[in-house]
Amino acid sequence: MKALVTGGAGFIGSHLCEALLKKKWEVYAIDNLSTGNIKNIEHLQNSKLFHFYMDDIMNERIMKSLIRKVGIVFHLAAAVGVKYILDNPLDSIRTNVRGTEVVLELANSFGKKKVFLASTSEIYGKNRGDKTSFKETDDRLLGSTTKWRWSYSCTKALDEFLSLAYYREKRLPVIIGRFFNTCGPRQTGRYGMVIPRFIKEALLNKPITVYGDGKQTRCFLYIDDAVRAILGLVDEKKAIGEIFNIGNPRSISILELAKKIKKITKSKSRIEFVPYEKAYEKGFEDMRHRKPDISKIQSFIKFSPKVEIDELLKRTIKYLER
Ligand code: UDP
Repeated sequence: MKALVTGGAGFIGSHLCEALLKKKWEVYAIDNLSTGNIKNIEHLQNSKLFHFYMDDIMNERIMKSLIRKVGIVFHLAAAVGVKYILDNPLDSIRTNVRGTEVVLELANSFGKKKVFLASTSEIYGKNRGDKTSFKETDDRLLGSTTKWRWSYSCTKALDEFLSLAYYREKRLPVIIGRFFNTCGPRQTGRYGMVIPRFIKEALLNKPITVYGDGKQTRCFLYIDDAVRAILGLVDEKKAIGEIFNIGNPRSISILELAKKIKKITKSKSRIEFVPYEKAYEKGFEDMRHRKPDISKIQSFIKFSPKVEIDELLKRTIKYLER
């Protein structure tokens, strides 16, 4: 079995490469290291089955040569992180839209290779103030185009439409996974992700910066659970042409999360509340709650998250301490 992992040096990508290599797959990984990190895959470089290309997914020549070789493309390369999207608006849109077009076009023309598209829970936008969970078929609610955060949701929605269009018109076998907040070793806080940011602040005894009132809630999925979900889905024929939420339905408020991290790390940090407009930009919009309904994925494959928040934090703290 041969696979191409785009974004292979990223947080999810590097863990996926590792899991595929454990299964004795031959793995080709491409990453331009814009948000990925070569350190994430250093330990894989010794394997004869692993081939890394530091290049851009918009480079059609290289993508052609790679897609030709493999049976499946895990398309994980994308601009990620709320902060990164705000800081790099143009690059984010181009990578997500043009990059996905290249992957789908080539996967289709070189023998209709299977494509797993990594999408996101940002798709749902700021819908709902309550705590009920999102189903794949739920409406989306986005803010104005003057609020940059929503550009990400739009680009990934276009990626989903494009993938489904290839499936409907060309019978290209695509599977779409919408990742809710995913976390674990190798995730960096540089692009905004809350857990590595809080851990770093706690370890350095600096203020833990909670944005807004901290009562917003999120659900965190451990990376190994995310990888199991991906592998399970690509193994299931019935999953083709379908969209799946991938997440852990257990939610926690951001303030509670800060307190937990402070306690586990025995940090002297104080918790500081930072207004959203100071943390991001004027008029920034956040969703109060975001929780996945995972009944669909569970009806297709055997999947339930195994690692809960305390263990997720312990493992991530251990990694960041090093
Ligand atoms: N957040 C925070 N402090 C930080 C980074 C993030 O309080 O240093 C908050 C953020 O405003 C959001 C939640 O934590 O409400 C999760 O943020 P993240 O960017 O990790 O993921 P999101 O769910 O927003 O995509």
